[in-house]
Amino acid sequence: MEKVIIEMPMVTNCDIKKCGYNVNNNCHAKAITIGDEMNPGCDTFFEHKSHSREAKRIAGVGACKVSSCRHNNDFECTAEGVSVGFSDGKINCLTYEAKV
Ligand code: SF4
Ligand code: SF4
Repeated sequence: MEKVIIEMPMVTNCDIKKCGYNVNNNCHAKAITIGDEMNPGCDTFFEHKSHSREAKRIAGVGACKVSSCRHNNDFECTAEGVSVGFSDGKINCLTYEAKV
């Protein structure tokens, strides 16, 4: 298998325990995708009773479509790291900050 090695902001924690990628409040996907044009939701979330067996790897933010966030540059996240959890009843990137 050919592999790519890229730098990504880390998902430093995630409170969404019902997600299949969540183990011990951390995300163990290889990478997640955040949002649409306006909303910073976690697109990678899926509810599953089984959880990832990979519990060492920490996910990165592979792509983010929320161009309204001040950390977003060219549809990529430039934050040091991001947190994911509930806000406004939705599963969102909690590091989102609106551009002024
Ligand atoms: S960051 Fe998204 S994909 Fe990862 S565990 Fe949380 S809700 Fe699931
Ligand atoms: S901090 Fe902003 S740019 Fe980074 S993933 Fe969250 S919403 Fe996207």
